[in-house]
This record gives sequence, C-alpha cells and structure tokens, in this order.
Amino acid sequence: MSFNTEKLIIFSAPSGSGKSTIVNHLLSKTDLPLAFSISATTRSPRDHEKDGIHYYFLNSTNFKEDIAAEKFIEYEEVYPDLFYGTYKSEIKRIWDSKQAVVFDIDVAGGIALKSKFPKESLSVFIQPPSVEELERRLRMRNTDQEEIIQMRVAKAKEELLTASRFDVILKNDDLPTALKEAEDLVSQFLKA
Ligand code: 5GP
Repeated sequence: MSFNTEKLIIFSAPSGSGKSTIVNHLLSKTDLPLAFSISATTRSPRDHEKDGIHYYFLNSTNFKEDIAAEKFIEYEEVYPDLFYGTYKSEIKRIWDSKQAVVFDIDVAGGIALKSKFPKESLSVFIQPPSVEELERRLRMRNTDQEEIIQMRVAKAKEELLTASRFDVILKNDDLPTALKEAEDLVSQFLKA
C-alpha cells in the first residue's frame, strides 16, 4: 500500500486519557510508516524512561538555550516550571526517513502545531469518559504524587473545553474500540 508520509499526526488529551497507550499501539503497527517525535522536557525521567527514546531530558538552562536558538517549532510550560517542546529537527529527521510524524503533546501544543501545518496535519483529541475516570486512571498509574495528580486533574478540566478545536475527537471509553478507530483514522489520513 502506498502512503504519503510527509504528514503530521497530532494526539492531544488531558493526561490520563490513554493518549500514550493509543500512540504506542500505533507505533507498534509495522504496516503503518510512523515514527514518534521525541520531545525535550525539563521534568525528571520516570523509572522506565530513557533519554533520547521517550524524551530528551534537559535542565532548564539548556532548555532556555534551545528556545533562544529557535530550535523549537513549539514549546509550552505544561505545568509550573516544567517545560516541554518539539524540536524542528525531529520533523525533518522523521520525514527524511520516509515516515509520518506522531506527536503526543499537550492541548496547547497540539493547537499550535495544527496552525503551523494546517494541511499536512491531522489533530486528534482523545476524550476520556469523565474527569472522575481520568483521576482514577492517574492514581492507578502510580507514578505521580497526590499534589501532582491534583495539578493534572485541574489542567485536564481546562483542556477538555478545547476539544472542538481539533480535527477529530476520539472517545476512549473502551480501549480496543479506540485503538481500532485510531488505526483507521491514521491509515485513511496517510492514504489521502
Ligand atoms: P508527561 O509528563 O506525562 O510525559 O507529559 C505531560 C504532558 O506534556 C502530556 O500532555 C504530554 O503530551 C505533553 N507533552 C509532551 N511533549 C510535549 C511537547 O513537545 N510539547 C508540548 N506542548 N507538550 C508536550
């Protein structure tokens, strides 16, 4: 099957919506020519996370240097004092390898990227069943302290209001259904 890979597929959602699960599933599908845009962040790595695979882990001085050098296509202070950004070089690296770029990015970043690449990008908002369910998932994940969970829930409430600014809203009530819908969306978009 022939795909047009000079494209961007943006997944945004409040944290705990299952966004990473959906993104990782798509990346594991060998019949789809997709590669993950590795972001820079100033947050500390979680136990399983590796520099240069999950994120480029930077201190805030280096992150600010990269902002000043205009290396980012977008960046956000996603949480107070925690910066996340997408390098312009990631898009080039992935397009050069004849793959489409997949982003796992916050809502503000997703909207910013869509406006920079209106034709080449598909922006997908992943909607969790409810705020209560999202909070339950964040707790089950067991990676964050209570204060951080509360911060993520507060941000999620704001982010849910922006869903209509995305090309597609993908409901994640039932994971197998959401995974299949995501596969269909992506393969259709790459064929267009
Ligand atoms: P986490 O700390 O859970 O890995 O990510 C926190 C949030 O930051 C998630 O919503 C994630 O999608 C978002 N994020 C990751 N990379 C980027 C990026 O490069 N830019 C923006 N704006 N958000 C990002």
